[in-house]
Amino acid sequence: MAVVNPSFGEELKKYGAVDFNACYNCGNCTAVCSLSTEKDSFPREMIRFSVVGLEDDIKSSLKPWLCYYCGECTTHCPRTAYPGELMMSLRRWLTSVYDWTGLSGLLYRSLPFSILAFALTTLAALALSLGLKTDLPAAMHYGHMFEALAITGVFAAILVPNIVRMWWLVIIRPGKKVPVANYFTGIGELFVHMFTQKRILGCDENRLRWFEHFLLVIGYLGLLFTTVVLDWFSNTSLLVTGFGYLLSILVFSITMIFISERFRKNKESNRLSRPSDWFFVIWLFLMGVSAFLVRVFLDLGILANNQWIYFLHLTILVQWALIIVPFGKWTHFLYRSFAIYFNRILAEIPDK
Ligand code: SF4
Ligand code: SF4
Repeated sequence: MAVVNPSFGEELKKYGAVDFNACYNCGNCTAVCSLSTEKDSFPREMIRFSVVGLEDDIKSSLKPWLCYYCGECTTHCPRTAYPGELMMSLRRWLTSVYDWTGLSGLLYRSLPFSILAFALTTLAALALSLGLKTDLPAAMHYGHMFEALAITGVFAAILVPNIVRMWWLVIIRPGKKVPVANYFTGIGELFVHMFTQKRILGCDENRLRWFEHFLLVIGYLGLLFTTVVLDWFSNTSLLVTGFGYLLSILVFSITMIFISERFRKNKESNRLSRPSDWFFVIWLFLMGVSAFLVRVFLDLGILANNQWIYFLHLTILVQWALIIVPFGKWTHFLYRSFAIYFNRILAEIPDK
């Protein structure tokens, strides 16, 4: 029997949902959504589940991740129930459900807690800066080691267990019998969507939006590879140096566009930005621009006299790696890719 949580709507409001109780179930939103299909029908169903409080059904659903927030449904809703924002709020809420540490939920629900987390990581980075201020090469060595350790640690301790929890919630707990072979045949879907985000093309007629996202993913992953694997700040190869410049410029230019769009509120998806949305774009911008400046200062031979830029970059990096990647909006990139993968393997079994 389905369990109903009568306070679910109130809980969801803490994650950004607005006015979804105004919905009178007309179905316009589902009709206009170009990603909704007969098999995977949304957002109306998710709105009904949210209004009624069918928390467990939402936990086991992949539908919130199949939406790419073009905002068409919100534009056509006669009741101003913001179905697009409801889908976004469900993604935030699901992120907190998957996260075994409970920190995602705290960060989404509480701005003071987010500020405290950023303040504590700033203090930690400042303490490190003061301890190493006379020894820039040592600081850069530890900074590089931190990047590699943070990526490995965050994936091993937080993101992989959370993906396993997501898998358990959407496949194992509802009793879906997925043949092992399906996990292998569908794996290509995971990487294709992760790197190309091509589903956006079905959601928005504006191909520029897809292209911007595509460039950002390539720029971000490329910059990660260049700094962590190729050790950009210590690498003397012209090719690697140029590659790093190109990727960092790509990251901060595209995020600059996203930040300005959020300020201008020029799209339905930008109208109701939450702190987590701002943190994501601003910190990604700062990551790109500070990495770029460190390398410029290095190449001009002025970094030793301007160590502050490296320590600023290190502070941003620590905050990005320990707050936004494991618990913030970055995780949506990962969960969405896995959702599309799980959805694909579930589509191949008859009792989905
Ligand atoms: S269009 Fe608005 S009122 Fe109609 S079902 Fe969707 S959310 Fe509800
Ligand atoms: S925001 Fe776009 S993709 Fe998401 S449910 Fe609404 S119409 Fe569909």
